[in-house]
Amino acid sequence: MMDISVKIAITAPDGVVHEHEIAAFEKGYESAAEIGLSIGDSKALLFNLQQEIVAAQTAAFCADHSICPCCAGRLRRKGNKSVQYRTVFGDITIDSPRFYHCGCHAGSAQTFSPLTVLLPHHVAPEMLWLETKWASLVSYGVTVDLLKDVLPIDQRLNAETVRRHLGRVASRMETELADERYSFVATNAYEREQLSNPEGPITVGIDGGYVRSREKGQSHFEVMVGKSIPTDRPDRYLGLVQSHDEKPKRRLKEILKDQGWQENQHVTFMTDGGDTVIKIAQDMAPASEHLLDWFHITMRITVMHQYVKGLAHPDPEEAEEMARYLRQIKGYLWNGNLHDGQVAIDDLIMDLDEIETEYASIKALRKAAREFQTYIANNAWMIPNYAERRRYGERVSTGFVESTVNTVVGKRFCKRQQMRWSKTGAHLMLQTRTRTLDGTLRTKFQQWYPGMKPDGDQKMAA
Ligand SMILES: [Zn+2]
Repeated sequence: MMDISVKIAITAPDGVVHEHEIAAFEKGYESAAEIGLSIGDSKALLFNLQQEIVAAQTAAFCADHSICPCCAGRLRRKGNKSVQYRTVFGDITIDSPRFYHCGCHAGSAQTFSPLTVLLPHHVAPEMLWLETKWASLVSYGVTVDLLKDVLPIDQRLNAETVRRHLGRVASRMETELADERYSFVATNAYEREQLSNPEGPITVGIDGGYVRSREKGQSHFEVMVGKSIPTDRPDRYLGLVQSHDEKPKRRLKEILKDQGWQENQHVTFMTDGGDTVIKIAQDMAPASEHLLDWFHITMRITVMHQYVKGLAHPDPEEAEEMARYLRQIKGYLWNGNLHDGQVAIDDLIMDLDEIETEYASIKALRKAAREFQTYIANNAWMIPNYAERRRYGERVSTGFVESTVNTVVGKRFCKRQQMRWSKTGAHLMLQTRTRTLDGTLRTKFQQWYPGMKPDGDQKMAA
């Protein structure tokens, strides 16, 4: 057995050194489980350490504020109260003295507590950040379990408290968002020519997804998510519930602004077509183009290919013919050859109508082909020569493998099937989740709480 004692020394601003033993362990060394600090040891250690540090800091602050700033007279103490301060390393009880204002201050309130100025909220900024970050990634319940497992967090912390805190953080971000406008273009062509050379082009992918609703008479509602990908800066995510959000364009504008975008800088908007999505991107950037994300074209063709594979069992020859059409269509569209592409789609549809087969999903295949025909016709103006773009090293898609929707909406919103969302709740969650995913949540906290260090901020692997 070994006796381990941990002592700290804190030198107060007045030069007085306070020494305390904050923990004492008796530790064996005969088995693996005994080697090193246990989680329990570390919790006790951190909690006691936090208690001492916070006590010393708040005492120093109160001492500084117990003297009148005008006449330097000592203020009379009215009494003491203790307050609870919730930190990452436990709920700390702090002495909060109350003082009478000095006689030289006429007219002000009679008494005041210095700590209500220093700590207006009873939750430490880092605690709020930690709860918000993890609850943006996993459920409120799992967040609570995780934090309690590794930190000396109060056992009474529950999912509802974390939900409230996340809501508070998201609402604060929402109130900072300035007014919506129809157009965000602020310069004319002449003024844009005077601007300095912009950085490389920005690609913005915007897409929709669905979240299970908990509102009556509605099973799902639509959310919109996006990803802004500059050439020279880190990516940013965008998320909103359309039927709830009153400032979608402002939201996108702020992200572009954060990425250093200026009005002579080129922006390519890549979408799945769809009016509502395009509306957001309209009148946003003077130098912009709207493209159909190649990902959405290939996805639809892949779905038809799956049906054709099924058709190959009863009718191999017809299936081969249909597969050939699909390859042709894909090739034409890839090369921006809309005319031949649309002719091939028409031929495919005619041939599908004539096939006599026992294949059960033939109706579904016919339907998919007709929908594809409409889709290409509606979005023809947004179909570029993808092959050429690729040759010039330009983007043709914002994500082949996993769409942005899956990243932003997937794990937190859909996988847990029992989870249902209100529009407000989902919208607020999207605000903290997008910032957690692109690694800017901490940056936001640093703006709110000067002195907070950048530690711990990292982009989450999607
Ligand atoms: Zn005074």
